[in-house]
Amino acid sequence: MLGGIVGIVVFLLLFFYAAFYNKGAAGERSIARRLATLPKEQYVILNDLLLPTSYGTTQIDHVVVSIYGIFVIETKNYKGIIYGGQDAETWTQNVWGNKYSMPNPIRQNKVHVKAIGRYLNILRIQSNIYSIVAFSPRANVLPNSTECHIIYYNQVKKAIRLYDTPQLTIEQVNQIVNVLQSEHLGSKESRRNHNRQVRDNQRERQQKINNGICPRCGGTLILRNGKYGRFYGCSNYPNCKFILN
Ligand SMILES: [Zn+2]
Repeated sequence: MLGGIVGIVVFLLLFFYAAFYNKGAAGERSIARRLATLPKEQYVILNDLLLPTSYGTTQIDHVVVSIYGIFVIETKNYKGIIYGGQDAETWTQNVWGNKYSMPNPIRQNKVHVKAIGRYLNILRIQSNIYSIVAFSPRANVLPNSTECHIIYYNQVKKAIRLYDTPQLTIEQVNQIVNVLQSEHLGSKESRRNHNRQVRDNQRERQQKINNGICPRCGGTLILRNGKYGRFYGCSNYPNCKFILN
């Protein structure tokens, strides 16, 4: 009897762990499944890339390389009402009146686009790189953006297929895929170092803010009066648009 109860408790713990612990990974799997149904002869899918950058490494959820261009996809498994400006440092997630801060995914994905762009420069290949931020259907209301597709998981394939003008040859697609695959840091150690780097960066960012320093450019954070009340912004505005939310 006791064994049975312990069994049930363990089962429930494992169930909740699986259900709630790694929601981000579940989102990535969902997108990967959808992307896998794109025609294989036209689209090459690279999931969960870890690429070296000048400052360490960057992790990219999905890259789709095709003759129609390159698509860089950031997956966000958030629920609630999501809002924030294109240039804001953070966005807000409102779940039944409870507000949480999240990194601005447009900015996050810009870093990824830049990393891919570096390889295009090296290869001397010109191609458009399209930024897509894909939200879980659990989110309702998404911000608009002129520089990025901000859409739901089930709209990603359609957004990719909107682009049907060839801009790369098959050879160029293969060159790009080869360089990304060879640059990908696949080891567990690389992954651990990356996670440590992310944590260190977050800590460093928070320390700067606590000391009144703009984490984006090193300027001074000053209290400003805005249309919607007072806020802390960067002294280097308009060159730096950092705002503390
Ligand atoms: Zn600044």
